[in-house]
Amino acid sequence: MDLPRPVAEHSPAELARAAKDLARRHGFDLAGIAPPELEEAYDRYREWLGLGYEGEMAYLRRRPEVRSDLRRVWPETRSALVVAIRYRSEEALPSPALLPGKIASYAHGGDYHKFLKKRLLRLLRDLKELDPGMDGRSYVDTGPILERNLAVRAGLGWQGKNSLLLHRALGSYFFLGALLLNRPLPADAPFAEEHCGTCARCIEACPTGAIVAPGVVDARRCISYLTIELRGPMPRELRPLVGAHFFGCDICQEVCPWNADTPPASEPRFAPRTGVRSPDLLDLLEMDEEAFAKRFRGTPVMRSRYDGFLRNVAVAAGNTGGGEAVAPLMRALRHREPLARGHAAWALGRIGRRLGGDAIRPGLEGRLASEPHPWVREEIELALGELPAFRLPALQETASGHEKGNGTPHSSR
Ligand code: SF4
Ligand code: SF4
Repeated sequence: MDLPRPVAEHSPAELARAAKDLARRHGFDLAGIAPPELEEAYDRYREWLGLGYEGEMAYLRRRPEVRSDLRRVWPETRSALVVAIRYRSEEALPSPALLPGKIASYAHGGDYHKFLKKRLLRLLRDLKELDPGMDGRSYVDTGPILERNLAVRAGLGWQGKNSLLLHRALGSYFFLGALLLNRPLPADAPFAEEHCGTCARCIEACPTGAIVAPGVVDARRCISYLTIELRGPMPRELRPLVGAHFFGCDICQEVCPWNADTPPASEPRFAPRTGVRSPDLLDLLEMDEEAFAKRFRGTPVMRSRYDGFLRNVAVAAGNTGGGEAVAPLMRALRHREPLARGHAAWALGRIGRRLGGDAIRPGLEGRLASEPHPWVREEIELALGELPAFRLPALQETASGHEKGNGTPHSSR
């Protein structure tokens, strides 16, 4: 890569320009400079924590004050180079899967953390060539940094009512990253406008009602949290609202008018991997741990862990499946993972409510007789309780015949 010539007198303004220029040359779509202070954003963050919206993400509660100032993250910080790169994939072709599952677009390609971190470190190396005294630390979604607020502070865009960073030309499908720098580079003006206006599509479209106020997401209700961060059972009342999603959710981005004409990612690394986008839930249900790792190794899907993944797939199959999902779910009812067994029971109960319980009741009852885990037993009992009453087809036929005056229920012709 041709670097800008080393700046003889490294004026902060020249270095800031060079840093943003280099960021674009390294493939980032947006770049801006922010100061280290984030007091205002931190106050809102504390309010959010105070409401318990972070759910079980305990790491967000750990030393929250670190997020108020980047110098608490790295004491030498004097400014931050904030970058954004698009990740949205090309429109998908219709899925050939019998029972297609949904996966958030950011997880279609390889894991972005290491890749973007490396890219930021290469960028830092180039900056050091311009200014040998320059030093920095790179962060991509990993450190205690309020990245979206930082991006707004660096002038990259505004925070939409769906809480995501929005840019008028490039939409919201961004990975964000930051290089904390030991140089006091002049900050860009914060993005002061807000272009959501009267639109509330994301709030209205969110299936779980997770966007509780403009820009405020109660993570405990968000499908991304439920399918990725949550360990253990998914709350029963939210399961039907998750639909076909088995990893993450893009609904509040898909409906956003600012995403309508945005270009797909230019970085090939973010292109969908084979078998990752719209896979068949019925295949996923049958995966053993080895097959799961083989299919999803190196992708964000690994974050849900094998048992969480099976939980999600069972819920999605229960929401969208019919008779074709019964046999795989019955097998999942005998899986070694209790989380898979319990959610398979729920899914069977749900399918049974739609199709009638006759094909499902014996399998659930059989499993109940030998199930050792108390929570799974409870799920099976609840599922059985939701099945429609057992009906004998032969009796129904004769009963309807009786109504028409064709004989008694026990008559033979
Ligand atoms: S990701 Fe899905 S569930 Fe979460 S806020 Fe957006 S629309 Fe709602
Ligand atoms: S859908 Fe509407 S309200 Fe929501 S982020 Fe987009 S523009 Fe803003």
